[in-house]
Amino acid sequence: MEEKYTKAYAEKLDAKDELRAFRNEFYLKNEYVYMDGNSLGLMSKRAEQSVYDLLASWREYGIDGWTEGNQPWYYLSESLGGKMAGLIGAEKEEVVVTGSTTVNLHQLVSTFYEPKGNRTKVLADSLNFPSDIYALKAQLRGKGYDDSHLIQVQSEDGHILDEEAIINAMTEDVALIVLPSVLYRSGQILDMEKLTKAAHERGIKIGFDLCHSIGAIPHQLHDWDVDFAFWCTYKHLNGGPGSVAALYVNEKHFGVSPGLAGWFSSNKEKQFDMEHTLTPAEDAGAFQIGTPHVLSAAPLIGTLDLFHEAGIEKIRRKSLKLTAYMIELIEYELKEFNFVICNPVNDKQRGGHIYIEHLEAARICKALKMEKVIPDFRKPSGIRLAPVALYNSFEDVYDCVQILKNIMQEKVYEQFSNEREVVS
Ligand SMILES: *Cc1c(COP(=O)(O)O)cnc(C)c1O
Repeated sequence: MEEKYTKAYAEKLDAKDELRAFRNEFYLKNEYVYMDGNSLGLMSKRAEQSVYDLLASWREYGIDGWTEGNQPWYYLSESLGGKMAGLIGAEKEEVVVTGSTTVNLHQLVSTFYEPKGNRTKVLADSLNFPSDIYALKAQLRGKGYDDSHLIQVQSEDGHILDEEAIINAMTEDVALIVLPSVLYRSGQILDMEKLTKAAHERGIKIGFDLCHSIGAIPHQLHDWDVDFAFWCTYKHLNGGPGSVAALYVNEKHFGVSPGLAGWFSSNKEKQFDMEHTLTPAEDAGAFQIGTPHVLSAAPLIGTLDLFHEAGIEKIRRKSLKLTAYMIELIEYELKEFNFVICNPVNDKQRGGHIYIEHLEAARICKALKMEKVIPDFRKPSGIRLAPVALYNSFEDVYDCVQILKNIMQEKVYEQFSNEREVVS
């Protein structure tokens, strides 16, 4: 056997891994290979500690915790936004931690979708996550338009979007564009810089959903002049189930009134004047609505420290090596089992996870879980595997592919039904 297909080779790659110390920062279960960090990142000791610290500040200060202690709750959304700004290439004031992905999408579309004259349509794609599409349709209805005002660019093969096709769809009747940065299935990275430039040349505002790119790849949203963006923090950022999401608004839009206003949209000095006329914050803070979910933001304090220490460039470098290695092993070890690799294989377009399809995918995923490998299944026939730079090793990738190979050789999946679980 060629050396690069041996376990010893995986161990060699791990020995050279500049981020390998970070694995000890996380709770990994013995014997398990966790490959689902793109759905729910694992818990880190830092995130756990920051939750305990936050609880202690509540115990200690009561109401005064809003302004006292190491992390005064009143300023936490802004301070965490500032800490996240480097991950997306934004100014600190352009980012705030607030709401959920879907609520933030509603907020930003209700703010930046301004149909006028013939410019009334919203441009999106046909492969995006359903919640985004539901929100866009609901926003259109709120402004008196039906679903025919949502243009969804089609994909030729059902996995990849052609950027030229998206640009061709930027016609004169489009008022707003919302696209994913990385597609949740195929992991394709869209060229945000190019799409933003094309949109602006045509007088259209554009925003991106960063759920699958935040914490996995670097971004330069400010330099690219992206109008707005939003993302969750429980996937690659490891903020825990339901951790508070975040949004970015380019500083050129500071001063715009939020579409969904509330008292936390206020300028912070004015907020407790309790006036009935809102004075919005002069930065991205204006796009908050109500009282922040402080307990669900707490894990971000710890987890973001890890991202600062590791650095997003190094994370991306290792992530690319992990996914390239996984592709190589899948091609070599599984060639007789009819898997189709559906993610882009070139570095520029490949996000942080691998997406393969197989007719028996639902029950292959069940067999993987029985064998202590955690993947996720996407109906009807997709398997996502995410080797995460901060806590997965090259040996994890090796073991995952070997276990999958054994499941196929021994037909272990045949003992399960080929249907999805309630949560998959
Ligand atoms: C994970 C994900 C969501 C989830 O939205 P929530 O409001 O956090 O439940 C939305 N859109 C995309 C593209 C996602 O990947």
